[in-house]
Amino acid sequence: MKTDELRQAYLKFFESRGHKIMPSASLVPAGDPTLLLTAAGMVPFKPYFLGTAKPDHLRATTCQKCVRTGDIENVGRTTRHATFFEMLGNFSFGDYFKAEAIAWGWEFVTRVLGFSPEQLWITIYLDDDEAFEIWNRAVGVPADRIIRKGKKDNFWEIGVGPCGPCSEIHVDRGARVGCGSPDCGLDCDCGRFIEIWNLVFIQFHRDEQGNYTPLEHKGIDTGMGLERVAALLQDVPTIFDTDETRTIRDAAAELAKVNYGEGGLADMAVRVITDHVRASVFMVGDGILPTNEGRGYVLRRLLRRAARFGKLIGIEGVFLPKVADAVIDVMHGTYPELADDRERIARTIQLEEERFLLALDQGSAVLESVIFRVLSEGGSCVPGADAFRLYDTFGFPFELTVEIAGERGLTVDQSGFDQAMEAQRDRARAARGDNAYLDEASERYHAAIGEATTEFVGYDSLAQQARIIAVIGPDGASAQALYQGEQGEIVLDRTPFYATSGGQQADTGFITAGEGGREGDDDDGCARAVAEVLGASKPLGDAVVHAVRVMRGNLAAGDVVNASVDEARRAATRRNHTATHLLHAALREVLGSHVQQAGSLVDDERMRFDFSHFEAVGPEQLTAVERLANEWTLANIPVDVSLASLDEAHRMGAMALFGEKYGNVVRVVRVGDVSLELCGGTHVARTGDIGMIKVVSEGGIAAGVRRIEAVTGLGALDYANRTRAALREVAEILKVSEDSVAVRVDKLIQDLHDEEREVHRLTSRLAAGSVDSIVAGREMVGGVAVVASPVEAPDAESLRNLADQIRDRLGSGIVLLGAVTGDKLGFVACVTRDLVELGYNAGAIVKEAARAAGGGGGGRPDMAQAGGRDVSKLDAALAAGVDAVRAHQASHQM
Ligand code: ATP
Ligand code: MG
Repeated sequence: MKTDELRQAYLKFFESRGHKIMPSASLVPAGDPTLLLTAAGMVPFKPYFLGTAKPDHLRATTCQKCVRTGDIENVGRTTRHATFFEMLGNFSFGDYFKAEAIAWGWEFVTRVLGFSPEQLWITIYLDDDEAFEIWNRAVGVPADRIIRKGKKDNFWEIGVGPCGPCSEIHVDRGARVGCGSPDCGLDCDCGRFIEIWNLVFIQFHRDEQGNYTPLEHKGIDTGMGLERVAALLQDVPTIFDTDETRTIRDAAAELAKVNYGEGGLADMAVRVITDHVRASVFMVGDGILPTNEGRGYVLRRLLRRAARFGKLIGIEGVFLPKVADAVIDVMHGTYPELADDRERIARTIQLEEERFLLALDQGSAVLESVIFRVLSEGGSCVPGADAFRLYDTFGFPFELTVEIAGERGLTVDQSGFDQAMEAQRDRARAARGDNAYLDEASERYHAAIGEATTEFVGYDSLAQQARIIAVIGPDGASAQALYQGEQGEIVLDRTPFYATSGGQQADTGFITAGEGGREGDDDDGCARAVAEVLGASKPLGDAVVHAVRVMRGNLAAGDVVNASVDEARRAATRRNHTATHLLHAALREVLGSHVQQAGSLVDDERMRFDFSHFEAVGPEQLTAVERLANEWTLANIPVDVSLASLDEAHRMGAMALFGEKYGNVVRVVRVGDVSLELCGGTHVARTGDIGMIKVVSEGGIAAGVRRIEAVTGLGALDYANRTRAALREVAEILKVSEDSVAVRVDKLIQDLHDEEREVHRLTSRLAAGSVDSIVAGREMVGGVAVVASPVEAPDAESLRNLADQIRDRLGSGIVLLGAVTGDKLGFVACVTRDLVELGYNAGAIVKEAARAAGGGGGGRPDMAQAGGRDVSKLDAALAAGVDAVRAHQASHQM
């Protein structure tokens, strides 16, 4: 039976028993961050077993792609393990249970697949008598063929949650296969006994304490290895010899010029390559890329291990993409999406292999010398520090060091490696601590781009052909390529893009790849890949890192690309930068030579220049500065750029820019005899290119530091138009000519003032009218006339006036007024002279009132004011004031 016939037979068999055939899920488990990769058929159904989701069908059957990293060391060594395999499975979500699962399993294996019952062995869980009864009584498997096994082998559980016993079906290939030892049995690894199918009976719930309670809705999860069963049916020795895997195996063997089947290392290497490339193809197909973490690292490890086994048996150069092609040729019948994605998959694999070969070349030589040293010293262990250096400097995977050392009989000091890794992190952290050397971002860049440098060619040209020397993915980690829609970073060997520095902001533009970019590119006249360059920076040394968003195609390390700067934007930036130098010179001329640059920012829209100066720059001075700078632009003075030693530059009288560090050779920018500065930025050829320089603001930003902002060229025109438009709009609203706006506004403000005064006068008069009624509401407290009243008063002053008037009217008495102003309360208290002499105190009274309203205040004995926060407490506050009067009388027995 062919592999694909087996797939179909299985799915059809269970379909005819009410199962819904579902497609394989991705190798990347959906919505389950706890899982690295899909490793079993039940993974996509986990939520149904956990009860967190409800299935549409209670019975399902699948052929699921699986990757098991735990089996990586077994690959090539055993006959039955691969990292990638397909698992056929039938599932019941609270529907049928043990009896059906077992009976159907047996029926499929014996009737459909034709295994004879004499070949088959069954394992069950220790105390699963129910399973025993079914196998023995219902199915008829002799008792001595049913083996009870412990928790390790035949009980499925993952911590807290659903779990249960399992039962496996094993096939005995007969005495002609395997080790021949009298102890050979189900547990022997020799290949005679092969576990083909595992039936999991999900029947318990395990709680935190480890108690098992029976589930109300029991479930079935089974897994039958497609390749294993195919190998048995086709009567071939291993899962690498079936009709499907054999084609890949042969392609690998041919590339290696190996006669497969002669045994030894060569056969094993071919099996490893076969498996690892098959796994990689499916992983890349499911969107995984080689990286240093998680799934990406699994992929990287598989590809690098395959590449290394290729080297081991003498394959030269890049070969994995060819094996990948063979994988896709065989597998696309079942997985058509692979064919559609063939190019991207092959390219991803190729790039990773190229990168690895480079690391391998360098690292292998180093490892060899380390091994030689250890052996000649009579040691047996490669020190962790050496393994770390290989990893850190050459990208040599730790596992590979272990494997290569192992082949030479050496171990590797894992804890030493871990320590070295930790120590490096500490160093980086410490360096960050004294904020010198590497911050977290630089550390990341260092990991991704190492010592790479970029030649900046952007002073002379705005478009250049260049090669991509490093790619940083959307996650900030080193990547092979950026794909359509992704945002990441790219380092080129040379670039016309100016990276943000010396206050000048980076260029933007495009990076395209196409005509002749990569071998095999077809030149259709339009770029294969287009990325927008959003900016550029130099986070480390001289490497220019371009921030890009890929709009079409993909860009990978090694690609030859065209880098082109947005010319209009660059031209505008250039104008602003040279204008900064002119304004600097003009400020020194007008204000004095104490003016020093304290910072600057230049982009395509404006320039900003910070300088030392101790007072505001007056309007006449500012006009003079602006005028002088514009006279220089009108003079159309040539701007000369030259290189000089720092000493020379200083002798020439160049002004060093603020806070910049210079190498030995500096760039001197001279504008006639007007300005001489050390500057790495981009400038116009002649000052006339700037057009107009228009200062838009001046102000202080710190003690002794002023900031001036200006626009140039078309930006100056836009600015003039904008301000003019604003003026026109105001004139229209005021219905006067633009010239009369100031006079008109002045008049309006005058009118407004007059009106405010009138309003004030009227409110005071209104308040006076209410004095009579307030006085009438006085009460006598222990023989003293007390007015405690809420009033309306717009501010503290009118409140006080009102209180004065009431006090005068009382002759002898106490006044306490409270008013709401906005969201606060205001209080005022007055006590007439005669009562002050008796010890009554306006301060004490108003304080009690204010306290009741969540505030405070005080003042003189005859007159005091206070505020309160809680406006709802106005009445309570006034009552509290009256209480204070009573309390005073009580304590003085009045
Ligand atoms: P083994 O003990 O042989 O590693 P297992 O107990 O890990 O197998 P299960 O987890 O029960 O296997 O998986 C169910 C079925 O999937 C197995 O019976 C087998 O047919 C198949 N299978 C498991 N691991 C692999 C593998 N690495 N390569 C190929 N098939 C596998
Ligand atoms: Mg296993």
